[in-house]
Amino acid sequence: MNAEIIAVGSELLLGQIANTNAKFMSNQLSELGINVYYHTVVGDNAGRLKDAIEIAESRADLIIFSGGLGPTKDDLTKETIAKHLGVNLAFDDEALVYIEEFFTRQGRTMTENNKKQALILEGSEVLKNHHGMAPGMLFEKDNRTYILLPGPPKEIEPMFQFEVKPKLAARLNDGGVIVSHVLRFYGIGEAELEVKVQDILDQQTNPTVAPLASDGEVTLRITAKAESEEEAWKLINAKKLEIQAIVGEFQYGVDDDSLASKTVEMLLHHGLTISATESLTAGLFQSELAEIPGVSGTLVGGFVTYTPEAKIAQLGIDKALLDEFGIVSSECAAAMSKNVREKMGTDIGVGLTGAAGPEPHDGQPAGTIWIGICIGDSEPYTRKLQLTGMRNTNRLRAVKLACSHLVR
Ligand code: ATP
Ligand code: MG
Repeated sequence: MNAEIIAVGSELLLGQIANTNAKFMSNQLSELGINVYYHTVVGDNAGRLKDAIEIAESRADLIIFSGGLGPTKDDLTKETIAKHLGVNLAFDDEALVYIEEFFTRQGRTMTENNKKQALILEGSEVLKNHHGMAPGMLFEKDNRTYILLPGPPKEIEPMFQFEVKPKLAARLNDGGVIVSHVLRFYGIGEAELEVKVQDILDQQTNPTVAPLASDGEVTLRITAKAESEEEAWKLINAKKLEIQAIVGEFQYGVDDDSLASKTVEMLLHHGLTISATESLTAGLFQSELAEIPGVSGTLVGGFVTYTPEAKIAQLGIDKALLDEFGIVSSECAAAMSKNVREKMGTDIGVGLTGAAGPEPHDGQPAGTIWIGICIGDSEPYTRKLQLTGMRNTNRLRAVKLACSHLVR
């Protein structure tokens, strides 16, 4: 089965929003092993949408539409597809009731044009939308599948994941299942990881193993097809052990884990408290940890100490130390971690300093990052990272570096 995604919306062509729906769905489709050969973006224009549909029909057997299912005049996806396929639009009673209830719940009265959202392609399977009003549709004609989904990401993402994906998976696998599991690595580059697991990548059939790199991390996705979930997990776990035997030391987590979530998990598990003082990241480290529920059991607080003066005033760092070594230095990172730990009375103190870029800072080239970690009464230790990325990438990488040392 090969797919094309047609995103409908003039705001996409005007550069006002990015086509994150196509990104999300492509990622989900790749988990199913469905090839996506084309992404098309077309404005809210019936003629050009019709052209796009015809082109897609010439090269895909699964066509997925995003956007234009709403109540306003510019929402014309359904109408255009119906006309093109020669199918009528008919009210779906269940969807109509759902829309009415949606308005009642919000204490509003339904306007006439909102009813339009309950119109579906006659003969299509309705896909429920639990986060908005417009239902989706799955329609089949001439061995081709058309799937219509709404534009807002908070609606389309759960719909795709929980309504569309299981239906596609069932078709692909004749009642069998497809399970995938992601292994997450830090501290090893994509190329190096690929070389190390080359034999596994070369031999793969079922399960398949696919590498992906982003933001200083690498993942391996293991995907297995089997008669049952249990069988699929047996295949996955066997492959996982093979991989771990080679590069296990670099693995920090699986699936939806992040370096921040694993850090919080580790700290809570050991009953340790943490504080941080941040220069180049200006609070990003603490903010990333704070995204994880339960973090209040470990994160006590900290400082943003951006200037040398703030480091001296807030943390009591010796001016002579800053004069001698500079603020982008191992010595400064160490003193930051030690002093914040003492000030906040935590088990662990973290200091982040560096030259985020694009200009050199304090005599150090852009992308020079130092982290300091102070655990209990022992002397702090520091690590350096020399990056070449953009300013914000460097800041995020500094946070990841600190987390990666805490996770281990
Ligand atoms: P609504 O009922 O909200 O009008 P709709 O199905 O008609 O939904 P659109 O009007 O096309 O969808 O888009 C609604 C909003 O969803 C857009 O303003 C935009 O913020 C977001 N959106 C639409 N398409 C995409 C896309 N491809 N990627 C990311 N966001 C999108
Ligand atoms: Mg709309």
